[in-house]
Amino acid sequence: MFFLFSLLFTVQVSFSSEVSCKRVEKVYTFCGTKINRQGNWFHFDLKSGAESYPCNDEKKLSFYDRIDQMDVRSILSIPYISGKIKLPEVRQNHDPGRLRLEALLKKIFGESKEEVRKNLVKVNFLGHKVSFQRKLGAARALETVGKELEKEMKVDESLKTFLKPFLEKKLDLANYTFSWRFVSGTNRLSTHSFGTGIDLLVDKGPQYWLWDEKRANPERAKLGEVAYKDVHYIPSKAPYFHPKAVEIFEKNGFIWGGKWNHYDTMHFEYRPEFFPKYTVDCESDLIAESSLVEEKDELIFHPDWRSDFFLNHDH
Ligand SMILES: [Zn+2]
Repeated sequence: MFFLFSLLFTVQVSFSSEVSCKRVEKVYTFCGTKINRQGNWFHFDLKSGAESYPCNDEKKLSFYDRIDQMDVRSILSIPYISGKIKLPEVRQNHDPGRLRLEALLKKIFGESKEEVRKNLVKVNFLGHKVSFQRKLGAARALETVGKELEKEMKVDESLKTFLKPFLEKKLDLANYTFSWRFVSGTNRLSTHSFGTGIDLLVDKGPQYWLWDEKRANPERAKLGEVAYKDVHYIPSKAPYFHPKAVEIFEKNGFIWGGKWNHYDTMHFEYRPEFFPKYTVDCESDLIAESSLVEEKDELIFHPDWRSDFFLNHDH
């Protein structure tokens, strides 16, 4: 009986791992990038050297051990739930999307600051021009989010009021997408390094766990991840962003950081693998090289650009 139970359990676990790995493989190769998979192993031939990761390494690791020792299935090991859910998220380290496989992101979006920069295009978003990653349909998805938000604002006065700082250009959106940098105190690249994340309403009182930690325990916060990784954070009030805006982002393949136990209400990140009904639109992958040159000339990123903000913003 026990044997049968363990057998069933094992089969179920490996099945769900395979589903996760197939989904990751399918979504990230949808626009034509090839990923070399042989059985349990994913091989990434990066310029900096080949890297291989198993679909399933059979290890049971804690969240922060896993973050430094990824296998492919773990990307989807914490499900992201679309729509209205009870917040704040009280389960410790329940941060769907924060388990990322850097080699995969490098393979798809660019391996270095220069390479990612070449893949950035300007997107019209709420009357602003923002730089975003063109690969895997990310720029196209952000553009669609902007169009849908504009359409919705015509019938939803509360959404219009909420997004007013952008419409009146009181907040400059161009500054909160791309920044090539490590998460402070770690050797992990921030998601903003790949140009696939955008921070919104940064100056309008966003709820961000690390800023709260720095206010509550400034000494501990200085020690970095090693000090806070086992601490359980719960905000004093439920993370908020206009629900219609969150819905529109999710519909277009973006996760919202407000749903993390390590809450981050300003943060939206293009992660199409979390939305089985979402199909990547590869059109932005196909933007001609000539227009990229033009865009590149417009980019004015400085290596330390906005570093004061980003150094205090870990995700
Ligand atoms: Zn962010």
